[in-house]
Amino acid sequence: MTTTTPTHCPYCSLQCGMRLAPAAGPVPVEVRERADFPVNRGALCGKGQNAAALLAPGTRLTTPLVRAGKAGGRGELRAASWTEALDRVAAGFAGVRERYGADAVGVFGGGGLTNEKAYQLGKFARIALKTATIDYNGRFCMSSAAAAGRIAFGVDRGLPFPLEDVPRTDCLILVGANPAETMPPALRYFRELRENGGTLIVVDPRRTRTAELADLHLQPVPGTDLALALGLLHLLIAERMVDVDFVAERTTGFEDARAAAMAHWPERVERITGVPVARLREAAQHFGRARTGMVLTARGPEQQSKGTDTVGAWINLCLASGKAGRRYSGYGCLTGQGNGQGGREHGQKADQLPGYRSIEDPAARAHVAAVWGVDPDELPRSGRSAYELLDSLGAEGPDGVRALLLMGSNPVVSAPRAGRIAERLRALDLLVVSDLVLSETAQLADVVLPSTQWAEETGTMTNLEGRVLLRRRAVAAPEGVRSDLWVLRELAERLGAKGAGGEGGFDDDPEAVFAELRRASAGGQADYAGISYERIAAEDGVFWPCPAEDHPGTPRLFLDAFATPDGRARFAPVSHRPAAEEPDAEYPMYLTTGRVLAQYQSGAQTRRVAELNSAAPGPFVELHPRLASRLGVADGEQLAVVSRRGRVVAPARISDAIRPDTVFMPFHWSGPGRANTLTNPALDPTSKMPEFKVCAVRIERVGES
Ligand code: SF4
Repeated sequence: MTTTTPTHCPYCSLQCGMRLAPAAGPVPVEVRERADFPVNRGALCGKGQNAAALLAPGTRLTTPLVRAGKAGGRGELRAASWTEALDRVAAGFAGVRERYGADAVGVFGGGGLTNEKAYQLGKFARIALKTATIDYNGRFCMSSAAAAGRIAFGVDRGLPFPLEDVPRTDCLILVGANPAETMPPALRYFRELRENGGTLIVVDPRRTRTAELADLHLQPVPGTDLALALGLLHLLIAERMVDVDFVAERTTGFEDARAAAMAHWPERVERITGVPVARLREAAQHFGRARTGMVLTARGPEQQSKGTDTVGAWINLCLASGKAGRRYSGYGCLTGQGNGQGGREHGQKADQLPGYRSIEDPAARAHVAAVWGVDPDELPRSGRSAYELLDSLGAEGPDGVRALLLMGSNPVVSAPRAGRIAERLRALDLLVVSDLVLSETAQLADVVLPSTQWAEETGTMTNLEGRVLLRRRAVAAPEGVRSDLWVLRELAERLGAKGAGGEGGFDDDPEAVFAELRRASAGGQADYAGISYERIAAEDGVFWPCPAEDHPGTPRLFLDAFATPDGRARFAPVSHRPAAEEPDAEYPMYLTTGRVLAQYQSGAQTRRVAELNSAAPGPFVELHPRLASRLGVADGEQLAVVSRRGRVVAPARISDAIRPDTVFMPFHWSGPGRANTLTNPALDPTSKMPEFKVCAVRIERVGES
C-alpha cells in the first residue's frame, strides 16, 4: 500500500504532477517525483520542489485577524474568532449594500483558485451579494489571448492541442514567452522539437534563456510585435506562401487582413520594430514553407493596450498559412497562473457565467439561474473589469465600490500603477482578504481570513492544455484555518442567501460543488458535464469539452470545424499602432517587466520560501552595457527608474541580452523596488488588459536626481 498522495503543484499553469509523502518535522509532507504524469513526467522546477515549505507553521496565517476602526483609520490587526470575523464581514457587506446599493460591494478573485472556488465565488457574488461588481486577476494575465481566440475561433482554450503535439510541429514561433524561467519542465517539448528537425523561433526584446535555445531570435522594440506579425504576413502574401485552399474553405475575412498586411512592407516593419529585414525574411521563409507550424504567445504580446489585436495578428499568420485546425498546427496561449484556464471558465469574470457563457445571453442566464434555484431576472448584468474595479475602490458617487472581498490575489504588488491601487484599497469602508499568508494586500485589510492551501484541500484545476486535473488533500489543515468554500457558505447564510446547493445555497464539500459546476457548465463552451473526480483520477485528467460521461474528452479542438457559427475561423483586420506611452525627451527609455525562475507572480508565497528567496532575493534593473556606459553606471549600483506614475530603486544588472533602448524589471517584489509602481494602466479596449509590458521611463543614478 502506498502512503503517498498524487497531486499537482500549487503554482503555474503547467500543473506538474507530484506525489506527497508524509514527513516528520515542521513540514508535514515531502514532495516526490511523479513520473507517470504525462505533462512533466516527473520533472519539477525549484518552485515545485520547495512547494511544501509553506505548509510549515510560522510561515502562514492560522487565525482570523480583524482591525480596530475602518480601513485607513488604522488600528492594529488582532486575532479574532471565526464568528467575530465572519459576523463583521457579513454586517459590513449588508451595511454597504443598504447605504450605497448592491454594486458597491465588490469581489476580486484569482487565477490560482480551484475550479470549485472560482465557480462558488461567482455564484456568491451574483446570488448572495447580488452584485455585478466581480472580476479577477486573470484579467491581468491572458485576457487578450482569450479575447482574440474567441474572435478568431469562437472559443478560447489556452492550447487547443496537448503539449505532446509540440515536438511534432515543423516550425514553432514563441512570442513574448519565457518558459525557461516560468515553466522549465515544458522546455523538453521545445528541445524535442529541435531534435526532431523542427525550427524554433523566439520573439522577445530580451535574449532570454528561452531565446538562447532558438534557431532564430527576433528582438523587437517592446510593443511592436503586432507590426512584426503584419510584416511576416506581408511576406507570406508577397512570396506566395498563403494556403489559398485553406483560406477559401475554412476562414472568412482574409481580404481585409490582406490589405492591412500589405501596408506593412518589410522596410517599414524594420523601422517600427528594429528587426532587420533579412531576419524578418528568414522567419517568414521558415514558417511559410513549413508543412506544419504553431504560434504560442504569452504575456509579451498580450499585456499591451493593443493586446487583442496583437494576438489577432499572430493568429492571422497561422490562418493565412493553413496552420490551424490541423494536426500539429495552430495558435495557442501559454497561460500563466495555476488555474488561469479554469479560473476564466466558471463565472468569476465580470461578463461571464459558468460554462464560459456570456452573462448577457438570455438562454445562458436561464440555464444557470435554474441550476442556482433563482429567477434569471435576479442575476446581475456584466460588471467592470479588474483594473476599472480596483480603480473605483473607495470612490464617492454612484460608481464607487465601498467594500471588497478579495480571494487569492495580491494587487498591491501585481496591479499596474500599484501605488494608486494601494491608496484605493485603503479608502474602502471594508476590505476583506482571504489568503494563506499576510500578503501586502492582506496587511491593508480590515478582516483577514486564513485559508487552507493546496495540499490541505481537494479540488480541480484546469491546466494550460484544457486538461482538468485533481488536486488531492494530503494533510490536515492547522486548527484555525478554513477553506474558502466554507467561508462562502458561512457568509451566504449570514447574508440570508437563498438558492440551490446546500445551506444558504452554498455547499462546502468540493465534490458536491463540482457536481453542481458540471450541471451549470453543461451545454456551454467549457462543458464539464461528463467529467467526474473518478474519471480524472483514472485518466490523469480529462480535456474539456466533455459533455457526457461516455464522451472521451477533447484534447484537440477545431480539426473538423472552428467554433464559430459558420465553422470558419475569422481573420482580424488589424493594423499597427504605437504603445499608449512612447519614450520622449523626459522619459527616453522603454520599460518592460517580467518574471524570474525562483519567484512566482506577486511573490507572496515564494518570497517566504528560503531556498527560493536566496536564489532571487530582490528586484533589479537590467540594462544594456551601452546605456550603462552612457550613464556611468556600474553593475550592482543602485538606480532609480522613474515613470509618470512613480519612482522605484533597485540595483543595476548590466547585460547585453537586452536592447539598448529598453530596461527590464521583474515584478515579484513590493517596497522601493516594486516594478508595478511604474507600469501604465492604459487598457486594451476589447480585453481590458493593462499595458504591463511597455511604458516610458528615465534612469537616474541614485543621489544624482
Ligand atoms: Fe510548479 Fe510550474 Fe514549476 Fe511545474 S513548472 S513545478 S507547475 S511552478
